[in-house]
Amino acid sequence: MSDDTITASMPIFPEVKMNIVTPKAPVTGTVVKSEVCLKGGRKSAGFVRHVEIDISGTPLEGQCRAGQSFGIVAPGVDANGKPHKVRLYSLASPTCGEDGEGKVISTTPKRVIDEFTPQKDGDDPEKHELFLGVCSNYVCDLQVGDKVQVTGPSGKRFLLPVEHDKHDYIFMATGTGIAPFRSMCKDLFEHPSGPTTSQVHVVMGTPYTTDLLYDEFFCELEEKYENFHYHKAVSREKQTDGSRGLYVGQLVGQKYDEVFGPILSSDRGLMYMCGLVGMQFGIYQLFAEKQITDAYMTIKDELKDVCFSDWDREQMRRYIKPTHRMMVEVY
Ligand SMILES: Cc1cc2nc3c(=O)[nH]c(=O)nc-3n(C[C@H](O)[C@H](O)[C@H](O)COP(=O)(O)OP(=O)(O)OC[C@H]3O[C@@H](n4cnc5c(N)ncnc54)[C@H](O)[C@@H]3O)c2cc1C
Repeated sequence: MSDDTITASMPIFPEVKMNIVTPKAPVTGTVVKSEVCLKGGRKSAGFVRHVEIDISGTPLEGQCRAGQSFGIVAPGVDANGKPHKVRLYSLASPTCGEDGEGKVISTTPKRVIDEFTPQKDGDDPEKHELFLGVCSNYVCDLQVGDKVQVTGPSGKRFLLPVEHDKHDYIFMATGTGIAPFRSMCKDLFEHPSGPTTSQVHVVMGTPYTTDLLYDEFFCELEEKYENFHYHKAVSREKQTDGSRGLYVGQLVGQKYDEVFGPILSSDRGLMYMCGLVGMQFGIYQLFAEKQITDAYMTIKDELKDVCFSDWDREQMRRYIKPTHRMMVEVY
């Protein structure tokens, strides 16, 4: 990028190392902590843990940056007799690791527990046995002291910019999509050079209050720092004023004029989304309604003359690309 194309709103991202350890030759880490990280008082069927892995002495030590993911290879073989493929997990730990020295990384695995439903042509429509995800359950089952095969790191776009204080941040998450924002908030507020002076908003979406993840951590940040703001979008519970529950996009729409609009329409705004596939589409339409698309999205000609309320998901997937001010990680 030449210097004259860099504007005040253009974030500069750090160079990061990727795939230092590949799935062909994973390295061995050791689980040093595993605890439930749901708020508790269960209402829905989710099981989510916070798992810390010691990677000291491996080439991954000190190489994992907030916002990146790492791989875990479950032992055993798949239905075709081949070794299980690597699964990616977002880092929940800051760049300096849970230990401050880059030796311990963490993540937020959610158990995949379901009834089998046909996914592709050829799947038996009558089959309805218990379906258990391979790697998520393996990681959630791991005990302190267990060895685990890890790879990575991966991802070079979903990162904080080099100069933290030059930007303001809106982090939107659903479910385990909160992991990288724990990681980034730790980088922003617990940095050795002091907490950021930027405005930071976390919007966390869950069905029930009991599904909130790392709730205590974010509540504490909000109590401690005036420039940190924590918004909970709980979709299946009434709000305190008796009105209906809200999804992330609805909450952002509701507080747009007062909270999010001023940040998003200033030169300093950066927008990050992580979580369930599909969460980005409501936001794309909201941004179009608020006429702030240019900064955050490139809309291809095929969609330019279609009213945003008529955009369907497939069109948005094909014809909208986030710019350098919008980071999207969905899975
Ligand atoms: C960048 C990135 C970051 C991620 N970060 C996290 C994270 O922080 N935490 C986390 O928990 N996950 C995360 N994931 C998802 C993770 O990689 C795994 O996909 C997830 O844990 C499920 O893996 P599994 O091996 O348990 O499931 P699998 O055994 O791989 O099963 C899941 C697959 O089976 C199919 N399937 C699902 N339900 C059914 C059903 N009912 N019947 C039949 N087939 C079904 C689907 O095709 C699905 O893809 C991330 C993914 C990416 C790409």
